[in-house]
Amino acid sequence: MKSSRITAPNEPLKVSESENPVPKGPQVLVKVKSVGVCHSDLHLWEGGYDLGDGKFMKVTDRGVKYPVTPGHEIVGTVENIGDVATDVSKGDDVLVFPWIGCGECPACKVKNENLCDAPRSMGVFQDGGYSDYALIPNSKYLAKLDGVDPDVATSLACSGLTAYTAIKKANQNSPEFLVIVGAGGLGLMGVQIAHAITDAKIICVDLDDKKLEIAKEMGADYTINSRDPETIQKIMSVCNDKGADSVVDFVNAPPTAKLDFAVLRKRGNLVLVGLFGGSFELSLVTVPLKSIVIQGAYTGNYDDMVELLDLARKGVINPVISKRYSLDEANSALEDLKERKIIGRAVINP
Ligand code: NAD
Ligand code: ZN
Repeated sequence: MKSSRITAPNEPLKVSESENPVPKGPQVLVKVKSVGVCHSDLHLWEGGYDLGDGKFMKVTDRGVKYPVTPGHEIVGTVENIGDVATDVSKGDDVLVFPWIGCGECPACKVKNENLCDAPRSMGVFQDGGYSDYALIPNSKYLAKLDGVDPDVATSLACSGLTAYTAIKKANQNSPEFLVIVGAGGLGLMGVQIAHAITDAKIICVDLDDKKLEIAKEMGADYTINSRDPETIQKIMSVCNDKGADSVVDFVNAPPTAKLDFAVLRKRGNLVLVGLFGGSFELSLVTVPLKSIVIQGAYTGNYDDMVELLDLARKGVINPVISKRYSLDEANSALEDLKERKIIGRAVINP
């Protein structure tokens, strides 16, 4: 098989050839049709996350081992099945649930493998889908596409799934006004999902007018370019000067976090999703005085992914796929994402 692999942080990905794996027991070999290019692949490529104050969290300290084949939004065709009775058959087109857990910890026991204490996620802790074949540890992590376009389906394993989890959390207080920060791969899915499953008026914020235009088409009621020095006042005025009931931050960096707290109303609900990182100073009394809720959201579970596939099949959500690359072009795909050239999602078709 042919894979495009990260050999070391910030080094160009290298294409390498190896024997096709033979699935054993519950394993399944999938011939990859399409794999989404996620900003998290960029963090993996850069070697970690910005903690702020010049500090950096290395992915190798979290259990990543280079070389690794990135790619966690994997769609393909079942090529070969180990030795297990399963719902999928050879030739089926499937979406892979990549957030594989240990199966034993409290999160895994309640089917939230995405929150596992010892995660084994594909494309992070084990090889993923920047490859013509991917070995899936267990057939239970597959979901049949049944008619959903393969390129479109990729984003349901991460950007769609994460946005779904985050919007559900943001909807816990039935917001009248919901601010979505960042209209990238995740944020545009967030806008669509919020439009479909909440009654909130959606205010979308980004630095890029083109992305904001698409956000409007996807269901945002208001869009604001945060380069505008009056961003906070504009959001407050939309929210009747009380502020937003919920904010979902798909960037989560110092400038956006400052904005989040500035526009969050009393009893507000803040969901932090992005991994851009950094740190900023928060005046602590505002948290109890405003009685705000701050929560994180990390990907989602298998059942939510299946629900999302169903929403895509019904046309309720329509992930935006704007660019396609070959496996040999994996470096350009990541560079283009880094330079903010991608609208919605790019995919690699190996
Ligand atoms: P993306 O590159 O497609 O989109 C990022 C968007 O944020 C772009 O539209 C960009 O213009 C906008 N942006 C950047 N800085 C901004 C600022 N200061 N103000 C306003 N907008 C700004 O990235 P993505 O694939 O959507 O991922 C977003 C983040 O979420 C990444 O850090 C990624 O690693 C992370 N992520 C988190 C999870 C999770 O489970 N929590 C899952 C997947 C991705
Ligand atoms: Zn991702």
